Amino acid sequence: MGRIAFIGLGAMGAPMAASLVAAGQEVIGFDSADAAREKAAAAGVRCAATAQEAASGAETLITMLQSGEQVLDVWRTALPCAARGALFVDCSTIDIDSARHAHLLAEMADSKAIDAPVSGGVAGASARSLTFMCGGDAETFQIAKPLLEKMGARILHCGGPGLGQAAKLCNNLMLGVTMIATAEAFALASRIGLSASALYEVAAASSGQSWSLTSYCPVPGPVPASPANRDYAPGFAAPLMLKDLRLAETAGAKAGAVTPLCAAAAQLYALYVAQGGSGKDFSGIFEMLRGGA
Ligand code: NAD
Repeated sequence: MGRIAFIGLGAMGAPMAASLVAAGQEVIGFDSADAAREKAAAAGVRCAATAQEAASGAETLITMLQSGEQVLDVWRTALPCAARGALFVDCSTIDIDSARHAHLLAEMADSKAIDAPVSGGVAGASARSLTFMCGGDAETFQIAKPLLEKMGARILHCGGPGLGQAAKLCNNLMLGVTMIATAEAFALASRIGLSASALYEVAAASSGQSWSLTSYCPVPGPVPASPANRDYAPGFAAPLMLKDLRLAETAGAKAGAVTPLCAAAAQLYALYVAQGGSGKDFSGIFEMLRGGA
């Protein structure tokens, strides 16, 4: 696999790069924030002073950034520095158009590319149990798979360029909407005198069952590991859910799809983030709905 450049050493990137180092890969990281570079270095990741320096001669380049614009900027900078025919992997969650544009940039530079956004959060990144949703041709997927297996537990091929991002956005649309529906039902239950434990017992064994209920219950008590039991410390922060719902909404609008629940969920998460939920887990939306404002 040769030398790996890892650009974007934030909450997710640092533990992912550290997993590659722990698996014996030669990794050179870079992040534009000094604090992120220092934290990654403390986790064993050797850091360069610039993205170009990290990418120079690299046979694989991984990005884990916040936006499509950042990914395109870094890929434009890094593509001419990397080894000939290098593999470029973007693990960020970004808009589908930017992901497809990144594939084109790689193709024009005779490099291989895959979009590979993840689910599993910071805990999954640290435990190497992430799920990767990959978009790109089948041959490139097979080349990327052994690398991704060093950072994750499930590596799925979703189709051509951009379809890894599409899978991520569709999944998180379902997650955002089911979380709101679950939280709304518990808020209603509390108003009409039905206990959370009674509702949980019924719904977990009935047609209201979902991951949002049985793995990540938004009320304290029924699922001890859920963020509700630690004052909604993230977990998966509400602004990240809002970001993903907005990306899904944009993708829907461009494709002419009808996504009314996605739009409603995005509005509710925007309200929650504005009303103090910005540092909280996305399941904390229960507190806003329970308030009944
Ligand atoms: P983060 O903000 O902690 O990390 C992003 C890092 O990129 C920052 O350290 C920032 O300094 C760096 N960066 C930005 N522009 C740069 C540039 N031009 N060159 C070098 N570094 C640059 O974000 P995160 O939580 O690690 O998330 C990364 C991506 O993963 C996002 O797209 C997010 O939506 C997605 N994601 C996050 C989670 C999660 O739980 N945090 C879960 C799934 C997916």
